[in-house]
Amino acid sequence: MLQALRITEVAEITAGVLSGKPHEVLLSQIAIDSRQIINPAHTLFVALKGAKADGKTFIPSLIELGVRNFIVHSDFEIADFSTSDSCFIIVSDTREALQKLAAFQRSLFKNPVVSITGSNGKTIVKEWLGQVLSQKYHVAKSPKSYNSQVGVPLSIFGIQEEHQVAILEAGISKSGEMAALQRMIQPNLGIFTNIGSAHQEGFPDQESKILEKLALFQNANFVIYSKNQAELAEIIEREIDAEKLIAWSDQVGVDFTRSVKILEKGAKILLLKSDLSTFTFQVPFTDPASLENITHVIVASMTLGQSSDSIQQGLDHLKSVDMRLTLKPGVNDSLLIDDTYNNDLAGLKVALDFMQQQRPKRRKILILSDLLQQGSPAKLYAEVADLIKNHQLDLIFGVGEDIFKLEQLFQGKFKGFESSEALLDNLDPDQFSNDLILITGARPFGFERIVNKLQQRIHGTTLEINLNALTHNYNFYKRLIRPEIKVMVMVKAFAYGGGSVEIANHLQTMGADYLAVAFTDEGVTLRKHGITLPIMVLNPVEESIDLCHAFQLEPVVFSPEFFKMVSSYCKTHACKLSIHLDLDTGMHRLGFEHHQLDELIALIQQEKRMRIASVYTHLVGADEEIHKDFSLQQLESFNEMRKSLIPHVSKETLFHALNSAGIVAFPDYQFDMVRLGIGLYGVEVTGRFGSSLKSISTLKTTISQIKELQPGETVGYSRKGMLPNGGKIATLSLGYADGYDRRFSNGNGFVLIQGKKAPIIGNVCMDMCMVDVSGFSDIKAGEEAIIYGEGIPLQELADRIGTIPYELLTNISTRVKRVYYLD
Ligand SMILES: *Cc1c(COP(=O)(O)O)cnc(C)c1O
Repeated sequence: MLQALRITEVAEITAGVLSGKPHEVLLSQIAIDSRQIINPAHTLFVALKGAKADGKTFIPSLIELGVRNFIVHSDFEIADFSTSDSCFIIVSDTREALQKLAAFQRSLFKNPVVSITGSNGKTIVKEWLGQVLSQKYHVAKSPKSYNSQVGVPLSIFGIQEEHQVAILEAGISKSGEMAALQRMIQPNLGIFTNIGSAHQEGFPDQESKILEKLALFQNANFVIYSKNQAELAEIIEREIDAEKLIAWSDQVGVDFTRSVKILEKGAKILLLKSDLSTFTFQVPFTDPASLENITHVIVASMTLGQSSDSIQQGLDHLKSVDMRLTLKPGVNDSLLIDDTYNNDLAGLKVALDFMQQQRPKRRKILILSDLLQQGSPAKLYAEVADLIKNHQLDLIFGVGEDIFKLEQLFQGKFKGFESSEALLDNLDPDQFSNDLILITGARPFGFERIVNKLQQRIHGTTLEINLNALTHNYNFYKRLIRPEIKVMVMVKAFAYGGGSVEIANHLQTMGADYLAVAFTDEGVTLRKHGITLPIMVLNPVEESIDLCHAFQLEPVVFSPEFFKMVSSYCKTHACKLSIHLDLDTGMHRLGFEHHQLDELIALIQQEKRMRIASVYTHLVGADEEIHKDFSLQQLESFNEMRKSLIPHVSKETLFHALNSAGIVAFPDYQFDMVRLGIGLYGVEVTGRFGSSLKSISTLKTTISQIKELQPGETVGYSRKGMLPNGGKIATLSLGYADGYDRRFSNGNGFVLIQGKKAPIIGNVCMDMCMVDVSGFSDIKAGEEAIIYGEGIPLQELADRIGTIPYELLTNISTRVKRVYYLD
């Protein structure tokens, strides 16, 4: 942070009311997450209300930790803490207060602030520009994609006095959000990357989306954009004074005319300025998107006065940005967090926080290289030490020179190595077991070798799950419901194939209210892995009530007989159980029917021990317009039964009816909670908001062998596959036992290799299948094939074999390794 503040100053900046006895402590840290407290006495905690849990619930434990300064919302009961000698600043909106503090800190920074907006490429442009500028300058930049209403303030608090330029990303998803980002960021130089169709739902049309984003640059001195995008350019030129504009294009008549020559490896970019001076740069890639991104970076670097030589030096070291923070299965049941791209303090913070959110393991271990960051090493490593202390690591492996500064601070816990090679030589995978290991290092240290050594051999097929996409989809549905409505997330069937434990853990950190599983043992697995959210069991059996009791799982009760059975269980065991009532309004699967209502009420009236946590019904055709009348009839019938039940149940009993499709189609029937399923996993079954969701998973496998086929030879069982003129096939290590449906046989399915379609040839075998790669000139065993994910939508695959995405997702065998990442 640029300037530490007294609590009285904070009150002034946020226009809040101070309660408690003010003191002179200088607050140098601002936290919004109770897990991120490094220096409690000097921390200001801002209790945000959001999709996540309400921040104020953490205040008692924070006081215990030693935090004394808080910004709270006006509904906070300060009286309860009057003896804690804490200071509270009361504001009407804590998020706004956080933003005001950010705007204040920003106003103290006198060096250039670059800000980036647009639909795609923001994070990449930010990272690359950071890499190129740091050839010459000391650069502050937003960590990962911290570009939101809360991410931007956190990025701003990361700016320090010694920084010479700050690069901040700005992302919005609905109209009205940019004004707040603009007030905080106040960019001097703006980059508008491009415009696409993402997040269209929050905006009436394309033009209003562009205008909203453009609001970020209203006070900027310069705005960089590409005239290759005609609609975007037209609006920018209309809205912003000509002397502020810096345009580049592949056509002449702009500030920088670009021509690109594709080389064997990479490309050459030639820029012709309007004063006829020319500059050439060599870049390591050839795809249009990367070339667009890098052109923005070059033009911005030139605008900031960097010489073309120094830009080229930066480009020479450019690495394609893989910023994914990946969770991988490690040796001996350990869990690895792979962050081998990271190279600065802000990134280390993010990675440590991610580590904190994981399920508890035996030990927390950090493998860390020198941070290649300009500035004073003493100060930098003091901060690293604070972070490590705060995260209570059990063991630290340090690689490099400067990192040895940590040695005296962590005696007995620190092992230092001069090089990655030295560490690799001494790293015995069997020293780890059931540990959580964060591996984070700057690029030159090549830490991917360490990950390789410590990860469980993953061969063949993997399902990669993007946790950020999951968050995105969750928030998409959150926006469709009223703020007070609770969310139950369906993690039945191994979380629709995604892997229930990690997904449940992620949902828990996101603040979901409830989970639901199909069977009791699925719930037991979650409990055994540290999931503490309430869990509803859809399909319990009599024998499993014991387990429900032992693991605090909440069974669904769907008939008078089952009600009586669970009730008598509670009596004989003198225990209390929470249960849920399923009302059948038309599914005809399980549940109480309308004519059983009086019987149900009589049962409830006699019941003392069971707590009725919720009452629900399930829609049979919410995704299909033709069933709309039937759905409404179901919802009305449920509402009627609900009214009859209300006098007999507690005020806390939740009523709920809507599944993913229902949330979209019937907003008037949210009752107290909704049940989110397939939508979270990236499939919008009503088809109305298809493009608003992100695909969360990618199923990948590898090529085991390439074979040449002569005319007339056949492929696979029953000789079904034939290439009449001969050709080339690739054998993939994926079969129906992995969940790759046999109906994809004989050209019904295809995979993507090198971005191109390769159709299935012959019958899918149990553990393998073959694809036709006759048109591929350069293809080798070991290469990757994508079965579905970005580029192969699940809906399309499902349609090809006459099924639904649900079936494809849940069929993926548990033998397929799941890998989780944040991008
Ligand atoms: C599976 C399930 C859901 C979720 O349905 P989606 O269509 O996946 O959103 C909701 N409620 C019940 C009772 C379910 O069984």
